[in-house]
This record gives sequence, structure tokens and C-alpha cells, in this order.
Amino acid sequence: MTPDRYVEPARPPAAAGTGAGRRTGLAARLAAVEDRIGQACRAAGRPRADVTLVTVTKFFPATDVELLAGLGVTDVGENKAQEAAAKVAELDPALRAGLRVHFVGQLQTNKARQVVGLADLVHAVDRDRLVTALDRAAAEAGRRVEVLLQVDLDPKSTVDGRSGRGGARPDAIPALADLVSGAAHLELRGLMAVAPLGADPDEAFARLALTAERLRAGHPRATLLSAGMSGDLEAAVRHGATHLRVGSAILGARPVPR
Ligand SMILES: *Cc1c(COP(=O)(O)O)cnc(C)c1O
Repeated sequence: MTPDRYVEPARPPAAAGTGAGRRTGLAARLAAVEDRIGQACRAAGRPRADVTLVTVTKFFPATDVELLAGLGVTDVGENKAQEAAAKVAELDPALRAGLRVHFVGQLQTNKARQVVGLADLVHAVDRDRLVTALDRAAAEAGRRVEVLLQVDLDPKSTVDGRSGRGGARPDAIPALADLVSGAAHLELRGLMAVAPLGADPDEAFARLALTAERLRAGHPRATLLSAGMSGDLEAAVRHGATHLRVGSAILGARPVPR
């Protein structure tokens, strides 16, 4: 039986290095996550191909991205513009060309240009000014950028207070969606969310699914749903996630930021 909620096993910190040991560790954890996704899809009656695994490599070096690509990883996620730009620049160009880079973090308007230069999908768009900044940066870069709107699922956030994990309140999503639709260089592809800390992820992702369904009524191309991380990917699959953002369950415990 699939446990109701995944409990992170105790594990030693990520092994450093680039050698065979690191590759073996990554391969084992990647296989375990792949197992969980497969089981969750079967339990939900969804085809595995409906769900994209985005391996979140923040805090880990470009060498890990290369090892992961060698293990079949096609989608990687980063949450800091500067770190992402430096890491992507280190990658072998041919390897880079075969990867989809997802920007999953909170984004400042002054980093819009940097993120447009490296991300294939921007996950956490949550305010008007960011839409404007991304549209301008995309115009300058001469490309169309695909975006997801981040929904704040924390019922405790107040109207102008924030839960700390970002996102626009569900009732603000329609106006934000219309703004993205009207932006010449952006393409609205769906929604993204992080389950509130300490809350039941099933309850939170059920609300997300409802918000997504309402959005699709007016924006039929907004079909992507980015939800679920190492601790709650099963719940996300149950509620229709198309993209899972998994970091520590694959890379190991994150090193302490410098
Ligand atoms: C770090 C991060 C993840 C991955 O979290 P894990 O719990 O390590 O799987 C997912 N989404 C976002 C937005 C993140 O910043």
C-alpha cells in the first residue's frame, strides 16, 4: 500500500565529489524517486508520461547536473538567478542543448533579464510588476517565454501579508492570468504552488486543482500544474500535477548555504 504521506528517511549529508560514488548515489536516489512517481501514477490511474520530473539542483554543482543528465534527467530546476546562470554557463553546450531549465524560485524584477536568458519555463510568477519585467526582457531577447503563475495556498496569509513562500492568492489569479495573456512575449502555461508548511498537502493541492480548473475555462492552453516536492509528490500526483519539483530526495541533503 502506498503510505498516505511520504516520510523522509534519515540519511547522511550528500556525498561531495564527482566520482563513481557520487554517480551511484544519485542513480539510486533517482531510481527510488522514479519508483515513487510510478506508484503514485498507478494509484491515481494516470499515465506516467503525464508527469514531468524536474530535478531541483540548487546548491549543487554543475558536475551533478552533468551526472544527472548522464542518468537520463532531462529537466532541471534552479531557484536563484545568479547561481543558475553560473551553473548553466559551466555545462557542456551539447549537454545544455538537451536539457530543459526550469526557474522555480522567487524572482526579483531586476533579475528578469538573466532568467529569460536561461530558463525554458518560469514557474513562480506572482505579481503584475514581474509580468511586465519578464515581458520586456523577453521582447529584448527576441523570444517568447512560457510562464506559470504561483498560487499562495496558505490560508493564513492575509491580503497584503505573505506566507513567505510567495504566490498570489487564488482570487488574484484571474486578473494576473489576463495580464500574462495580453503580454506579447509571454505565454501562460498554467499554475505552480508549494504546499504550506505543516499543512495537509492533499487539502492544499485540492484547492490548487480547483483554481487550475477555473483558469483553464478561460485559458485552455494553461494546462501545466507544477506541484509536489520531495515530501509530498504523491499528493501532488493525486491532484493532477504535471510537473514535480524534486530536490533533496535525489541530490541528498542540501549543503549549508555559504
Ligand atoms: C528547493 C525547491 C524544491 C525542491 O524541494 P525538495 O524538498 O528538496 O524536494 C521545490 N520547489 C521549489 C520552489 C524549491 O525552491
